[in-house]
Amino acid sequence: MAFRKAVKGTVLIGGGAIATVFGLSQFSQYRNKHGTLVYVQAAEPVTVPVKNYFPTREQQLLTLQSTSEFDVLVIGGGATGCGCALDAVTRGLKTALLERDDFSSGTSSRSTKLIHGGVRYLQKAIMKLDFEQYKMVKEALHERANLLEIAPHLSAPLPIMLPVYKWWQLPYYWAGIKLYDLVAGNQCLKSSYVLSKSRALEYFPMLRKDKLVGAIVYYDGQHNDARMNLAIALTAARYGAATANYTEVLRLLKSTDPRSGKARVCGARCRDVLTGQEFDVKAKCVINATGPFTDSVRKMDDQEVPNICQPSAGVHIVMPGYYSPDNMGLLDPATSDGRVIFFLPWEKMTIAGTTDSPTDVTSHPIPTEEDINFILSEVRNYLSCDVEVRRGDVLAAWSGIRPLVTDPNSKDTQSISRNHVVAVSDSGLVTIAGGKWTTYRAMAQDTIDAAIQAHGLNAGSSRTVGLQLEGAEYWSPTLYIRLVQDYGLESEVAQHLASTYGDKAFEVAKIAQVTGKRWPIVGKRLVSEFPYIEAEVVYGVKEYARTAVDMISRRTRLAFLNVQAAEEALPRIVDIMGKELNWNEQKKKEELEAAKKFLYYEMGYKVKSDQLTDSSEISLVPSDIERYKKRFHMFDKDKKGFITILDVQRVLESISVQIDENTLHDILNEVDLNKNGQVELNEFLQLMSAIQKGRVSGSRLAVLMKTAEENLGQRVVIPVDRSGGGL
Ligand SMILES: Cc1cc2nc3c(=O)[nH]c(=O)nc-3n(C[C@H](O)[C@H](O)[C@H](O)COP(=O)(O)OP(=O)(O)OC[C@H]3O[C@@H](n4cnc5c(N)ncnc54)[C@H](O)[C@@H]3O)c2cc1C
Repeated sequence: MAFRKAVKGTVLIGGGAIATVFGLSQFSQYRNKHGTLVYVQAAEPVTVPVKNYFPTREQQLLTLQSTSEFDVLVIGGGATGCGCALDAVTRGLKTALLERDDFSSGTSSRSTKLIHGGVRYLQKAIMKLDFEQYKMVKEALHERANLLEIAPHLSAPLPIMLPVYKWWQLPYYWAGIKLYDLVAGNQCLKSSYVLSKSRALEYFPMLRKDKLVGAIVYYDGQHNDARMNLAIALTAARYGAATANYTEVLRLLKSTDPRSGKARVCGARCRDVLTGQEFDVKAKCVINATGPFTDSVRKMDDQEVPNICQPSAGVHIVMPGYYSPDNMGLLDPATSDGRVIFFLPWEKMTIAGTTDSPTDVTSHPIPTEEDINFILSEVRNYLSCDVEVRRGDVLAAWSGIRPLVTDPNSKDTQSISRNHVVAVSDSGLVTIAGGKWTTYRAMAQDTIDAAIQAHGLNAGSSRTVGLQLEGAEYWSPTLYIRLVQDYGLESEVAQHLASTYGDKAFEVAKIAQVTGKRWPIVGKRLVSEFPYIEAEVVYGVKEYARTAVDMISRRTRLAFLNVQAAEEALPRIVDIMGKELNWNEQKKKEELEAAKKFLYYEMGYKVKSDQLTDSSEISLVPSDIERYKKRFHMFDKDKKGFITILDVQRVLESISVQIDENTLHDILNEVDLNKNGQVELNEFLQLMSAIQKGRVSGSRLAVLMKTAEENLGQRVVIPVDRSGGGL
């Protein structure tokens, strides 16, 4: 009896709640249809003059050294630090920012790329009646709207599908997602909606069909995180902030406060990482915005201070674009170990992630095979059996470190609050820690408010709500058409330039080289399958890129999209940067090596190539071994037991295929595991075995040898093997 009552009560309360949500959501939909889509109340206009250029890095370093005292010195050039610099400088404060690596080289380029309120935090807020979580979601939704407005070229709303596999979950998820829309109020990007099973499959054909009952689609924002970070840094520089990358803070400077007699932080000793030169930067207030490194700077102030940051590593993998629809993401709200996995289209590829595991703080986090396999197995749960999710299709993988603020009551990193904290130490060091990308502006505003209060700085309120970022002012969704028409760029390249540089795309187009072809007239690509052009490398140097790694990972995003393509583009990138920055041959060699090492360890190249070496047990059936041996001996005519570049050239000539020598070297090098300049039969069989297992895909040598075999009329009947790269 009591049980029946309880069920009845639950149904009534649940039904009432659903009805209320439905009613309110209809109202919100009405408003969204009839009013503005997203509404952001702009702050007071900025009165600080804006430069129509940004100073060079060398000029910025001179300013840093020659200014007797800044009002604010920010340490850290991630989203948070650059946000602080922009907030401070636009309030009229004399501002400096030091970043020891490149802008956004830390966590801020390694995020899931979502600009979001956090649906799952809203769920927590409701389930646990946690008002703090609710406030955090509300604030993030406001910041989401603001970010989409101030950098529309770098961000856009993205529909995300939540597949539902149990009937009872449909109203539960729907009510939750509708609440998310409601909390966003007039800043809701687009209303969420329910889809039947057939409609869900129409939008997301790769989705697993069995047991699917329907889906819910909601909207969040998506952006190019590293470029967004750079846009904030460049905007701050245009307003007069002295920002320098590759400038490390070694220690804090202190002086005695004449009134209190206490030691006060009054600047920092720093080092230009590129030249080794050391100098002091003096400031009334120093801000520690170093993300996961927050405790290392806090300890520069006070050795005894306890740690507040509990770092957690998150890995993402990138797969080919065909794994997801062009404009629909997927959210798995409960993975096998209780994490959330996103599967999102990004820059014409598919990003999947992320993991969440406690880690040590490092500037060079490395993705592991275990992380990659965890994400792949979760992805397999959601995709149709028709789509073979192959290890070999992982084109890049990276790890980022979440700067989570420790909650003393929590046992694991997954339940640590994502909220931010601003703390002022006894000696006046202002620390901003925690938070997320989406809320960088609000975090910066709170930090500068605290800095003004703690140090009695003379400045008004924040001006950054509605303040447009670099490239946003004259951007429009059709800007790329003018790039095509005025400069003769390929449409895909023009779209990429417009969505990367906004109205500054014209400056890139102006320096784009003539191709010599009928079409496109200008714009030589760095690699054929990506719309990045050589002119971006020249422009990237103006945007403070100083290493080849900066160029492949944060000015362009090649390293994040495809490690092999990035490696292929490297020699040309180094050549162009060498011209711009006067590098000699030795420096060029060092840059090339450093960038290859970066791709190898940090971007997943190592774990990718390990797939080939680790498959040393060749698991092929005898008939396959015979077939592949035959193919191999077509090239190794004199039965030496290995193939050289000359062997490949000879066969290609006989079938009238022309491939230049450098490319052929690259093709052989991919398979040449012992790096002796030739491919042995064993290496070839290992490759074919790895392809059959799905551990390797798209081997150019394998495709080339198969094509040659077919062209020479020796086509054999191929059994249905689990092939890779179209083999
Ligand atoms: C896997 C993952 C996914 C995420 N996804 C999202 C998402 O989708 N949406 C979202 O909103 N948030 C997301 N986040 C959170 C978000 O990325 C971070 O909160 C944010 O990028 C942190 O920025 P930051 O500036 O505080 O830190 P960082 O970007 O790490 O910047 C700190 C900088 O300080 C510099 N530094 C350190 N010491 C010194 C020194 N001594 N001198 C000079 N410089 C120094 C470092 O070089 C570094 O560049 C994600 C985080 C992770 C790890």
